[in-house]
Amino acid sequence: MDALPALDRLRIVLSRTSHPGNIGAAARALKTMGLAQLFLVQPRHFPHEDATALAAGAADILEQARVCASLEEALADTVFVAGFSARRRDLSHRALELREAAPELLDHAARGPVALVFGNETSGLSNDELGRCQVLVAIPANPAYGSLNLAAAVQLAAYEVSLAAGAHRVPLPRERALATAASVEALFAEIEAAAVSSGFLDPEEPGRMMERLRRLFARAGLEREEVNLLLGLFAALRSRGGKP
Ligand code: SAH
Repeated sequence: MDALPALDRLRIVLSRTSHPGNIGAAARALKTMGLAQLFLVQPRHFPHEDATALAAGAADILEQARVCASLEEALADTVFVAGFSARRRDLSHRALELREAAPELLDHAARGPVALVFGNETSGLSNDELGRCQVLVAIPANPAYGSLNLAAAVQLAAYEVSLAAGAHRVPLPRERALATAASVEALFAEIEAAAVSSGFLDPEEPGRMMERLRRLFARAGLEREEVNLLLGLFAALRSRGGKP
């Protein structure tokens, strides 16, 4: 059992791809999701400037891509093969939706290389290609037109498996500290005192001013820094003789 993480054991196999741009875009899709293994079975044009252009910063994935003479060759050392198809053609194959398939693909990857096979842009996967798959995976899409661009399908597949693997968790921004009740009360006291001392508020007939301000601040979800800022402002106003 080697130490390769499951994602590194997933290989994207593009079979008989017509448009080299799709190969480049697929390489980029892989790299952005942390996958790296790209196998190309009988690509019509490769290498090609369109592939390089659409790969952008994923040129290394293209350079390392393995070109194979047959699907058989691309799959030789794999322990599990999933064929991606929008159409449900062969009922003898187990069919899964991508999201449910992703953890299963990773489970198999714990035991060896796993292939995710994508068909030609026009004809999809042939019956012979389908015959080499253990499961069919469909990306749920518009029933009236569910055939995705090849590289878009690869992007979604790579995204789902990387998500299922728990890769690339984006660190959440550090939560900022919220103001304590005591500091907010201190702020209200400052506001009220300033309102009275400035003549804005008659202490004999205060009305509902403070109640309204409490509602305003309650909506704001005050942070500690914000309350400190306002307390500092009131302290400065007081020291400049704002208070009678
Ligand atoms: N006309 C072809 C479409 C090919 S699209 C057909 O009907 O099969 C190129 C490849 O992208 C497909 O072979 C398949 O591997 C993948 N693909 C596109 N849309 C998909 C979907 N909704 N679900 C799964 N794979 C899809």
